[in-house]
Amino acid sequence: MTQSRTEAKPRVPIEPGFFRIPADPNAPPRLLGSRCRSCQEVFYPRRRICARCLARDTEDLELSTRGSLYTYTYVHFPLFNSRRADHGGYGVGQVDLPEGPRVQAVLSGGPGDFRVGMEMVIELETLRENEAGQDVVVYRFRPAKATQTASAASAKVEPA
Ligand SMILES: [Zn+2]
Repeated sequence: MTQSRTEAKPRVPIEPGFFRIPADPNAPPRLLGSRCRSCQEVFYPRRRICARCLARDTEDLELSTRGSLYTYTYVHFPLFNSRRADHGGYGVGQVDLPEGPRVQAVLSGGPGDFRVGMEMVIELETLRENEAGQDVVVYRFRPAKATQTASAASAKVEPA
């Protein structure tokens, strides 16, 4: 049961069916949505019946890892179950994905880090370790420009 810590620990979603965890530990998770084959509407989370045209003909679709912050608020209270206490609170926002769905999620960052319309990128956060030694993870969004590391390919720096 004991594994070397040189490899990334296996990660499991807190609830199956909402996002896919890539094998690459540095790759962002992919939200699992549905697209209606009849009217092309895209939904998150997944649906078997289209909420727009009621067709029972949807297909699974992995959604984009980036979107635009539609609105947000900041809760000045530590997030339940979170290991990160760096800000003593947390943001909650709605992110518009290019495919259409507006996704509500916890945001990573401090109270002054968010602006409506800014580009957000999805990431995983580890909540805890389960009995099998796996990291139980959730997704959240963070401002894209705060993620520009040396590995960022086409860094687009905007003035604050
Ligand atoms: Zn439809």
